[in-house]
Amino acid sequence: MEKFNLDRLAAEMQPMEKAEQTATIGGDYYYTPTGEYLDYVGKGDKIRVIDAATFHSVGCTDESNLNQFATLFSQADGGAQAAIASKLANAQIYMADLPGDEAMYDPNSRQIYLSYSGSAVSGSNFYEICLVLTHELTHKQYTNSDMTTNQQEYMAYLAQKNDPYFSHCSAHFQYTIEQRLKYYKELVEKDSPGFYIPSSY
Ligand SMILES: [Zn+2]
Repeated sequence: MEKFNLDRLAAEMQPMEKAEQTATIGGDYYYTPTGEYLDYVGKGDKIRVIDAATFHSVGCTDESNLNQFATLFSQADGGAQAAIASKLANAQIYMADLPGDEAMYDPNSRQIYLSYSGSAVSGSNFYEICLVLTHELTHKQYTNSDMTTNQQEYMAYLAQKNDPYFSHCSAHFQYTIEQRLKYYKELVEKDSPGFYIPSSY
């Protein structure tokens, strides 16, 4: 697209939220409804869902055209969301309605649930969905450890903070993780001074 057209498009879209603009003019991560990764096109941060045949027939370098045929992750059906999240996590992920939460791990069933209503899913944000899954995968990793709840939360937030995708997340998302990491670090230092604090933080 010519720069002139992009500028005009930007002017027309002024009332829209910044995230919405990115969704419209940026390229993104494309997956099929069965969780197959197709390609990353442009420089956006959204997950979009499109069947492989349409993706290849539209021409996988034309973002604006592609986005007419692709569905944002947040608007895809639950089966597609679960398939894509499972691909991202390299583990079985279930979708669930968890008001107020991004995701949860059930240590009894050892299942991870991603929330339809969390900010990561609502924003269809590739990096934030990956980090939400990183948190729960860390809980799953330590299921049978003798760590306290505070230690487990500390480790889960630390894994998010140390993830290479952390710097790609929104400022608000990063801030929330940093605040919770700080909160649990203080609790762990108080409750269990001998607990190993990884030196990377
Ligand atoms: Zn947690």
